[in-house]
Amino acid sequence: MSFPRIWPCLRRERKNPNGANHSRGQNTNRCSAFCKTIPGSKSTRLYEPHQSEEVISYLIVGHKQALLFDTGMGISNIRKVTAKLTSRPVVVLNSHTHNDHVGGNWQFAFVYGMDTDFTRKNAKGSREDAQAEIAPDQLCGDLPKGFNPKTYATKPWKISHFIHDGFKVNLGGRTLEVLSTPGHTPDAISLLDRENGLLFTGDTYYPAPIWLFRPETDLDAYAASVKRLAELAPELKLVLGAHNIPLAEPSVLPRLVTAIQAVRAGQGTVKPAGEVKAIHSFDGFSFLLAAPRKE
Ligand SMILES: [Zn+2]
Repeated sequence: MSFPRIWPCLRRERKNPNGANHSRGQNTNRCSAFCKTIPGSKSTRLYEPHQSEEVISYLIVGHKQALLFDTGMGISNIRKVTAKLTSRPVVVLNSHTHNDHVGGNWQFAFVYGMDTDFTRKNAKGSREDAQAEIAPDQLCGDLPKGFNPKTYATKPWKISHFIHDGFKVNLGGRTLEVLSTPGHTPDAISLLDRENGLLFTGDTYYPAPIWLFRPETDLDAYAASVKRLAELAPELKLVLGAHNIPLAEPSVLPRLVTAIQAVRAGQGTVKPAGEVKAIHSFDGFSFLLAAPRKE
């Protein structure tokens, strides 16, 4: 299968391997861009190339329709890619509405949204966060032709249908269940494919420093949400996060609960990350938290 040039499914070398403000990645090739079927998952992961977030969107296909879980940063044209991958209608659902997960929402006719004020606000679009993503140390390789960095912004989108915890999407022969897992943001969800043992965790879990420093983050809610997910571990086969590396073993979830509890109890190591943030690490997990205010 060939893919559009503007979202090439090729690995590319980073031009400046030392110029990294590479905030999350453990992926050694930071310019990788894949559209790759995940074995045993009946899903395709889509990496947006040339940007250090290494955000991963997933196309999950049923007999009747497909669901795109997140739409990347909107630098490349994700709709062209999904059109190549499936002829079925594609509905969009976001793991949460931070700008790096909703950039292509506007291109799709049907977008689910969690019924929260945070979601409604972000659906109006924004420029500031989008512009921060294209700072020179955030990019590598060539940006798509026609992309204008000066006007780059997260475009507004229309929420077609508001949903809540427990909502199910029937794709035809395959059902996905929405689990509200607030914490990273008020509208963070995980997506459960019970029959296939898959859990798509968005930014609630991925294998790199998990961002929990922004004002919209609620650490109590986060700790409760990961506990909820950990209870599912025995019935899961794969955990699929939204950044860096797509696959993890379900056993990661109970360990994540222990790690966030330990970090909140002051255990593990702490490394400053700039003036206002710090990386807290425990048992191979790390969390980017707001640094305590100086007296
Ligand atoms: Zn996020």
